[in-house]
Amino acid sequence: MERWRKQLQKSVTHVDELAKRFDISPEALRKVEQTFKMKITPYYLSLIEKKNDPIYRQVVPDERELENHGLYVDPLAEDEDSPVNNIVHRYPDRCLFLISPVCGSYCRFCTRKRKVGDPEKINRNFIDEGVDYIRSHPEIRDVILSGGDPLMLSDAKLEAILQKVRAIPHIQIIRIGTRMPCFLPHRITTKLVKMLKKYHPLYMNVHFNHPRELTPLAVKALGRLADAGIPLGNQTVLLKDVNDDPQTMKLLVQKLLQARVRPYYIYQADMVFGTDHFRTRVEKGLEIIKSLRGWTSGLAVPHFVIDAPGGGGKIPLLPEYVQSITDTEVVMRNYAGKIFRYTQPIGKSRPTQHRVAKEETTDSLFDEVDQTLLVDDLVF
Ligand SMILES: *Cc1c(COP(=O)(O)O)cnc(C)c1O
Ligand code: SF4
Repeated sequence: MERWRKQLQKSVTHVDELAKRFDISPEALRKVEQTFKMKITPYYLSLIEKKNDPIYRQVVPDERELENHGLYVDPLAEDEDSPVNNIVHRYPDRCLFLISPVCGSYCRFCTRKRKVGDPEKINRNFIDEGVDYIRSHPEIRDVILSGGDPLMLSDAKLEAILQKVRAIPHIQIIRIGTRMPCFLPHRITTKLVKMLKKYHPLYMNVHFNHPRELTPLAVKALGRLADAGIPLGNQTVLLKDVNDDPQTMKLLVQKLLQARVRPYYIYQADMVFGTDHFRTRVEKGLEIIKSLRGWTSGLAVPHFVIDAPGGGGKIPLLPEYVQSITDTEVVMRNYAGKIFRYTQPIGKSRPTQHRVAKEETTDSLFDEVDQTLLVDDLVF
């Protein structure tokens, strides 16, 4: 058996073990566990320094998960955008393909809390149906393998899916969303990486929420993926008492860049039933972006987004850099809070209305821009 499988088998899956280790009431934990799956890899457990620290909070069940705060079981209405089992097709040109019901460990704040860990709800028997759906939708050019965690599949099973998806002519890029480099870096074997690189262009989005998760082992695993030419992005969930302060986030994004991972998204915590105690106010995310933009490498600054409840998709939020836009000038605030003005060009190409308040068809804007995009002029 491969080493990562052995590690996985040694995971903590009984709350009694946790209750003893952290001196919590086993009854309370048992009730939570009956509703939401629990599992922690020995590696990730070893990163917990003390009860209630940022690592602990992400994976150890909490009684508050059973409180009803009027939140939703399926906050993003993913099930409504699911034309066939295991596919979520919300955006015009890309879709999610859920290929694994299980994860290395279970995040207590997971948006798919309703599904993860339940092979009935993310059923591997429907993989071929998913591939057929993608094949019969030529508008899909980007497939995001997700779950659960795709890297919980064996190399052979994962490769079989990659092969099928890659064989579809209209698929330009494949992405894998995984938390394994964080929960079980041992999963990133040289064998896995050798297999993955056959399916380029392949992108990977990993999931780190706290700088302490970037251990030497995790950094090594990420380096291996980067060496295989896999562009790496990171998705972070903004979590109360885990990473909801600018200092922690700055350290996290800087360490990610050192590990050759580009911070991609910071998500406002979704309105998921059982996760109210993780939610921060939206202003906190804006404060964090404000503390990064300009103060550290632009490469380190992710997009702060709210995945709109009800299925609206990801909506970016920015601090107020634009003060006003008029026919003649734009007034802006820079990262340090100073005011600057940019004078608009005067001439035929200038739109007569400013673009902020009024809804315009994008076509009319593109007509003007097109003339500047003479691709033939590019010489390599
Ligand atoms: C996040 C998400 C995507 C990918 O969005 P990008 O902004 O392209 O990374 C695609 N489909 C669904 C349903 C999503 O939630
Ligand atoms: S790894 Fe991802 S899918 Fe799995 S529990 Fe965590 S957030 Fe949910």
